Amino acid sequence: MPDVAAFSSTMSDPPITPLGVHAMVFMPSWTHPEAEQAAAKAVATGFSILEIPLSEQAAAEAELTRELLDRHSLRAVCSLGLDASTDIASDEPQTVERGEQRLLRAVEATHVIGAKLLTGVTYGAMGHHNARVSSKGRASAQAVLTRIAGAAEVRGVRIGVEVVNRYESNVLNTTEEGLAFIDGMGAPNVVLHLDTYHMNIEESDFRTPVLLAGDRLGYVHVGESHRGYLGTGTVDFATFFQALAEVSYKGPLTFEGFSATRIDNRLAGALSIWRETWHDGQALAAHAQGFLADQMMAWSRPPATTP
Ligand code: MN
Repeated sequence: MPDVAAFSSTMSDPPITPLGVHAMVFMPSWTHPEAEQAAAKAVATGFSILEIPLSEQAAAEAELTRELLDRHSLRAVCSLGLDASTDIASDEPQTVERGEQRLLRAVEATHVIGAKLLTGVTYGAMGHHNARVSSKGRASAQAVLTRIAGAAEVRGVRIGVEVVNRYESNVLNTTEEGLAFIDGMGAPNVVLHLDTYHMNIEESDFRTPVLLAGDRLGYVHVGESHRGYLGTGTVDFATFFQALAEVSYKGPLTFEGFSATRIDNRLAGALSIWRETWHDGQALAAHAQGFLADQMMAWSRPPATTP
């Protein structure tokens, strides 16, 4: 385990961009009172945004969640991954219809919670696929998500499209594909969501995709190549954060980490989380907060000059 103290922040200025943390860093699912503990731990580790995994159960408890967030002075982002039964990129109309209803409930819950963004694998089933998405399925996903974006817009909610690796989606694996998908929808409140863990698998580098996305980039997940401690894997964070500064990214930076015994079984299966890469979520989050704050300091520092 890295030396946590070595990464603790000395930053005195307010951060350029708000820092978030995924609730599953602290608790395996979003049920009350687990949610209560996740919120308290997010605040204790210095985050201002909590990302809520918006299961059907969590969506049904949206009022409770709003009250909890208010009490902890936290903002929220909601996320989900559709599954095989709600896959809007399916060729099966009933499956697509179930997906649309699931997304509509999620938009309403996001609004009730007071969050401004619903993101994740919102465009198809999250998890391993055995075949390419069909052109009919892709068109269906775009049509449904365009309608969902319309319903979201009147509630002041934006829809994020998270580009994920080939083992978690057969629809969108690269920034280029994500941008083409969004452009094909023509909905102003749909944004691209990048995640360094997925970029590390699919992109050629950490700068080009960010510059390509530019102001269409609306949300960022910061995750290490093994989903554990930041800076201990193969992700080129220095290049990535420099690129974010280049495009003047001001949206949230949300830390994501997953470990085998600290994640619910459905998500573990979809994300292939089999290894225990960390044990203490609060220590992991505190380290991530310091790491991200230090990275943001580096953005605002003038380049080093040699005397
Ligand atoms: Mn992610």
